[in-house]
Amino acid sequence: MNNSLINNFYRHMRFKYTDYHVHTKWSSDIVQNGPNFEDYITIAEKKKINICFLEHYELYKVENDISHPFYNGNIENYLEEIDELKETYDFILSGLEVDYYKEREVDLIEFMDDYDKKMDFIAGSVHECDIGFPITEKSYIIELLKKKTTGQLIDEYFISVEKMIRSQIFQNICHIDTIFRYINNNELKPSKDCDISDERILNLGKLCIKNGINIEYNLSGLKYSYGRSFPSREIIIQLKKLGAKIFIGSDSHNLKYFKEKSLTVKKEYKFIEQLNS
Ligand SMILES: [Zn+2]
Ligand SMILES: [Zn+2]
Repeated sequence: MNNSLINNFYRHMRFKYTDYHVHTKWSSDIVQNGPNFEDYITIAEKKKINICFLEHYELYKVENDISHPFYNGNIENYLEEIDELKETYDFILSGLEVDYYKEREVDLIEFMDDYDKKMDFIAGSVHECDIGFPITEKSYIIELLKKKTTGQLIDEYFISVEKMIRSQIFQNICHIDTIFRYINNNELKPSKDCDISDERILNLGKLCIKNGINIEYNLSGLKYSYGRSFPSREIIIQLKKLGAKIFIGSDSHNLKYFKEKSLTVKKEYKFIEQLNS
C-alpha cells in the first residue's frame, strides 16, 4: 500500500486524494451561518477531491459551553447527518479533531472507545496548554505573555504534543508545530533561550513513526506570518523518507479557502508519493 494514501484504509472513495481537515459550522470557531456539509460537497465534487469533516471537539467546551455545537450529546446528530450524506456521496468521511489535554487522558480514552469505530477518522491536536487560552488565537497568546515568555509557551506546547503522541490515544495527529502560527521570528518573537530548531519538530515526527501514528501535513501555516506549513515541507520530506505515514489537511474554515487549496492538496500528495521511503 502506498503510505501517503491512507484513504485506502476506508471503504472505496470516489477520488484519489483526500483533504483530511475541513471545518464546517459544526466547529465552535465557525459562526452559525458558516459553511455546512453540502456547501463543501458541491465544491469537492467539482474539484475531484475527497473530504473529511474534521470538526473541533474540545472536551472542556463540549461539557460546559451550552452554545457549543456538540453540547449535550449533539455529536450523535452530527454523525447521523454525515452518515446519511455518505449514502449519496462516496467522497466524504466523518471525522473529529479532538483536543488533547494531559490531565484528561482517562476521559479521552473513554471517548475514543465510544467513537473511534463510529467515525471514519479521528485526529488529536494540541491547541491549549492553559485551559481557555488556545495558542491558535493571537489575543490569547498576548494574555498568556503577561505571565510567561514565548519560550515557555513553546516548551509547554512541545511537551504536551509529546505526551499526546506517547499516550497513543490517537492514530492520527494534526499540525505538530502549530505553536509557531503566531510565535515566530516574523511576529511574536521566540525568546532567545528557546529551542525552535527543525530538529525539535523532527523528533516529534520520529516519535510518531515509532508509535505507528499518522502525521498531518497541514497547509494552513502558509497563510500566517510563519509562512510555512505545519510542519514545513522540508520536515515532511525528511519524515517521509524515514517512513512516516502522512495525510494532508487544508484546515479550511471557509469555502473560498477550501476551493483555492484543493489543487495544492492534490499537488502535495503527488509530490509526497514520488519521494522514496
Ligand atoms: Zn487545529
Ligand atoms: Zn482544524
